[in-house]
Amino acid sequence: LSPAPRRPIRELPDELVSQIAAGEVVERPASVVRELVDNALDAGATQVAVRLLAGGVRLICIEDDGAGIAREELPLALKRHATSKIGSLSDLESVATMGFRGEALAAVASVSELHLLSRTAGQASAFLLDASSGELRPAARATGTTVEVKELFFSTPARRKFLKTDATEFAHCLEAVRRHALARPDVGFTVWHDGKLCEQWRAGTRDQRLADVLGEDFLAESVAVEHAAGPVRITGRAGIPDAARARADWQYAYVNGRYVRDKVITHAARSAYEDLLHGHRQPVYVLQVSIDPARVDVNVHPTKIEVRFRDSREVHQAVRHAVEAALSAPRAGRANEPAQ
Ligand code: ADP
Ligand code: MG
Repeated sequence: LSPAPRRPIRELPDELVSQIAAGEVVERPASVVRELVDNALDAGATQVAVRLLAGGVRLICIEDDGAGIAREELPLALKRHATSKIGSLSDLESVATMGFRGEALAAVASVSELHLLSRTAGQASAFLLDASSGELRPAARATGTTVEVKELFFSTPARRKFLKTDATEFAHCLEAVRRHALARPDVGFTVWHDGKLCEQWRAGTRDQRLADVLGEDFLAESVAVEHAAGPVRITGRAGIPDAARARADWQYAYVNGRYVRDKVITHAARSAYEDLLHGHRQPVYVLQVSIDPARVDVNVHPTKIEVRFRDSREVHQAVRHAVEAALSAPRAGRANEPAQ
């Protein structure tokens, strides 16, 4: 066997670096929706409109009424590792925003045709940046930001081939918005698909939002969860055993407002139903874990859907006790009683 010919080491061009990195962040249209709604919420939006064409493959347009991006910062918003959210390692340890890596817009722009339209409160007009050409020009818009993402994966056909039908991609996009909406009842959301208004969730109370997103039945068939144990606080609602489903699709867990998929929380919640659910029935719940940010690492994965707890036993016990207590006192937490 002859050794492979030696090839010189080269630095990859920025564009290619972004495209490679995009593979981690942008798996499908729903990943774009999640990142862009994160940004809207980080900007303090009170209204977020999500418009999709063909399951988001043709167009994802997210409009918010948040703080906006100043004209001179628009090109910077699209640069990798450029962020307004952290400036130091200590900021990272107490990060309260959804974003902080400064990667999403750069990643999305590298695999789509992206337009960024924004206006801050102090500006006389909005400005529109075309990511592909770099062209920046005045445009019309109220304070806030619109991000338009067209033809996702047009330059990366390998990725495009993995997309499912428009209906399936739309379902994933809608689920991404639902996860945000459950955590932020104070923000109004609308979702449009192919010109049709699909969902309209007005800003209101937590219970109202739960009813809007998961249905009145969820509210009637769940009990309030409210429990504090040391540095961990658990709130939300847990479905009564009768409300359990065949699939684990209504298990929403949040850590400091961020939707997560976490084995510790899932296991703890499940174990609270140990003696109540039989076979493969899956409990339903919406649980918020509030914890000192220093006790949880959110910088585990580019999508930030996984977190790592400094003391996972502490979280496990808190979740389990919280749900158990709620389920053993079902009457106290009925939805029609005033929340404490
Ligand atoms: P990150 O959210 O991690 O900072 P992004 O690539 O998602 O990185 O966004 C880069 C920057 O662009 C943000 O830090 C923010 O300053 C700005 N930005 C993005 N989207 C919005 C928005 N909808 N409203 C206001 N600013 C935004
Ligand atoms: Mg972001």
